[in-house]
Order: sequence, then structure tokens, then C-alpha cells
Amino acid sequence: MTTPGKELLFLALGGSGEIGMNANLYGCDGKWIMLDLGVTFGSHDYPGIDIVMPDLEFIEDRAKDLLGIVLTHGHEDHIGALPYLAADLGVPLYANRFTAGLIAHKLAEAGLEKAVEIRTVDVDDSFQLGPFGIRLVPLAHSILEMSAVVIDTPYGRIFHTGDWKLDEEPILGVPATAAALTAIGDEGVDVLVCDSTNAFNPEASGSEGALLAGLQTAVGAAKGRVIVTTFASNAARLKTLGDVAKATGRTLCVAGRSLDRILGVARSVGYFKDFPPTVDFDEAMRLPRDKVMVIATGGQGEPRARSRAWRPTSIRSSSRRATPSSSRRSRSRATRLRSGGS
Ligand SMILES: [Zn+2]
Repeated sequence: MTTPGKELLFLALGGSGEIGMNANLYGCDGKWIMLDLGVTFGSHDYPGIDIVMPDLEFIEDRAKDLLGIVLTHGHEDHIGALPYLAADLGVPLYANRFTAGLIAHKLAEAGLEKAVEIRTVDVDDSFQLGPFGIRLVPLAHSILEMSAVVIDTPYGRIFHTGDWKLDEEPILGVPATAAALTAIGDEGVDVLVCDSTNAFNPEASGSEGALLAGLQTAVGAAKGRVIVTTFASNAARLKTLGDVAKATGRTLCVAGRSLDRILGVARSVGYFKDFPPTVDFDEAMRLPRDKVMVIATGGQGEPRARSRAWRPTSIRSSSRRATPSSSRRSRSRATRLRSGGS
């Protein structure tokens, strides 16, 4: 198979049947689009390797038929490989404001801000990429502006969710309600490509809004310095912690590069207008212990998440030649979702 015909194809180069390094291709009428391009972090299965990326050889060989990359949200397993691989593909990236802000930051760090074009779209925008009608659908997730994607083609409609949950009180953003999702189903969906961490856990995950009271009680009862850790990109949690600091009369210190980046990007697109003023770490250490709260974390709360100092070329060659996943990936085959005329 070299070029999609009058049919609808799905080819996961990463992220299906595994956690991380999402890279999903949809193909029809001679063209491809990609959804997400992320990394996964090294583990005991990958000795000496910090991050692993999908092997894009298949689509690099057909880059002239690739129309663009649509990013669902800004977690590392969905955008982390962009600084290393997107420039070679030479296609525009499509992302909502917050995700685009995070991507722009990453590309600038790699000196690639001019090499990769980012087209910003709203969280509930619609646009056309060749034969693919794209509609973004905001969903609740542990990061701002998560956009699921409804893909309309001449051969069927796909609903590709990315990571998501239902949350009655998401704190930041306005995700689609259960009723809105039901309406999409009622319009007719031929294929659901669905992903969510802990999807096999039968218990519902709690609402972000349910955390404020408990955190406020715990921090209010604390006698000394309070240090809170969280997933750096969970902006809603940062908002909650800012409210807790205000309510308990503690000065807030946000300690960490990832946290600074998330707060900076969120502010630049209009969030966090009422976040309390913060002090730097040294000043926080000089304050009375019962008057300070520190938020401290790493990138994505994963072991080995501090891998940014690696040179892109080093990581890429590692993922291509040395990891078990790349050989698995090379055996990937497209799944024909729908043929023309059916
Ligand atoms: Zn995610």
C-alpha cells in the first residue's frame, strides 16, 4: 500500500496498544492527515534511553501526500516529538490556542520557530484538509483545551477522542457535555478511536472541582511550610492551588520550569487572570514557614521526565535504531476502515 485509494484507512505509527508516543494517520483519496505526534518516556524496558518516539519512516516516504498534523492537546505524549520530527515532514500544525502556545515554546527552544508553521484554531473550530472535514470538540482532561476531532470523509465519519473524561466542574475551560457527545453520536459515527488513561478502571474519576474543599482543609490545618506536587500541565489544579493559597493566607511560590511555562502560556491566552502573585524560591524560603505554600513538580510526573537537555538528533537515532518499539513499529500495518462504495 503506497497511496490511499477510494477508502478510509487508519494507521497508528504509535500510541495504539501502548501508552505514549501518539502518532495516528488517517488516509483517503490519496491523502493522509496525522493526529498528534508525541513521545513516551524511557523505562526499565529501554535501558539508557530517556525518551522514545514513533518511527515515521512510512509517512516520511509519503510526505508529499500528508496534509497536516492536528494536535488534540498539549501533553508530551501528544506533542513531545514535534521539535524532533515535524520539520522533516514539512506540513502545517493545527492546534488550539493553548496547545499552540506550548508547541511554539517547544519549537523556539529547539530553534525551529521558523521551520514549522503553526495554524491556531479554536477549541470548537471546523476546517477542511483536502478530503478530510475536521471538527474540534472540546473535552475535559487534565490539561487545558483538550480537543477531540470529528473527521468527515467521503467514506465515513471518525470520532477520535484523544484522552478525556467527563467532568461536571472542570474549573477551567468549557468542555462538551454528555448531551453534546450524545448529539455527535446521533449524527452518526462510523468509527470511534478512543483513548483515556485508566479507561479500564470501573470507577469514575473525580471532578477537578471536588478538590478545593479538601485541599483547603489540609493546608489550613498545616503548621509549617506546605509543599504541593502536581502534574505540571494540570492548569486547573494550579488554579485550585492558587485559590487555596489565597484562602489560607499563604504566599505562593511556583517552583519549576515546566510550571512557569504552563502558567506563562495559559496567561498569554487569557487564563489565570485572578491567580495570586507569586514569589521566587529563595524569597519563599525566607518567609515564615506557616505563611508560604510551594508548588513543585517536574514535567509530566513520569520517571526520567527531565530529558530536555538531550540533543534532538541523539534521541531520534536512539528511537530509530535501538529500541524494541521501533522494530515493533516497523511491522505496523494500516487498518482499512471503509472502502469506497460501501
Ligand atoms: Zn493527555
